[in-house]
Amino acid sequence: MTKILIVEDEKDIARFMELELKYNGYEVTVANDGMHGLELALSEEYSLILLDLMLPEIDGMEICRRVREVKTTPIIMVTAKHSIEERVAGLDFGADDYLAKPFDMEELLARVRATLRRVETSPQQKDNALKCGNILMNLDAHEVMQDDKLVELTKTEFALLRLFLENVNRVQTRDDILKFVWGDTNFVEHQIIDVYIKHLRDKIGRETIQTVRGVGYIMKEQQLTQG
Ligand code: CA
Repeated sequence: MTKILIVEDEKDIARFMELELKYNGYEVTVANDGMHGLELALSEEYSLILLDLMLPEIDGMEICRRVREVKTTPIIMVTAKHSIEERVAGLDFGADDYLAKPFDMEELLARVRATLRRVETSPQQKDNALKCGNILMNLDAHEVMQDDKLVELTKTEFALLRLFLENVNRVQTRDDILKFVWGDTNFVEHQIIDVYIKHLRDKIGRETIQTVRGVGYIMKEQQLTQG
């Protein structure tokens, strides 16, 4: 059973999400305030957490940060903010994706499915390591090392880096990236890819992923083996 925790203080929205998810076969727990949500997130095991950003007492960012200190449970940040920067601010705190209010049930379900799918790692991975230059990705351990130092990545960043490592020296268009990282969902704006690329560059170095103007992005082996 896939267990989902909803942390949302607006009871109507929480109820709507709960009913939709239950109808689609998920086991759902609702917390209507941040403290309760944090307690549950830390004490129970969930497959996914849908976390509202604006909560009384303790907000979604803080909950996300505290959960990330000890757990890798996938988190989708639910936010009413409008700019891309504000919507994805939660990603800096370790959220895996965001969902902007108002959303419809198809979008909610698509985001949940996409996030859960990214987490599922194939246990019989034949080639369980990907390498390019000074970057080594271990798919079994879900770990990335750069110059023998561990790089902390969210699940989405991990998926994005994996795409580049599997396609070294080949340009990835925004559509390629959307398809690989988010599946067939039509709900992700192209701008969001640029934000993820920026986050990934911040973590593994600006030069590692190059922009190919008007086309997409590329990771070149040469660039990574220098120095
Ligand atoms: Ca709220």
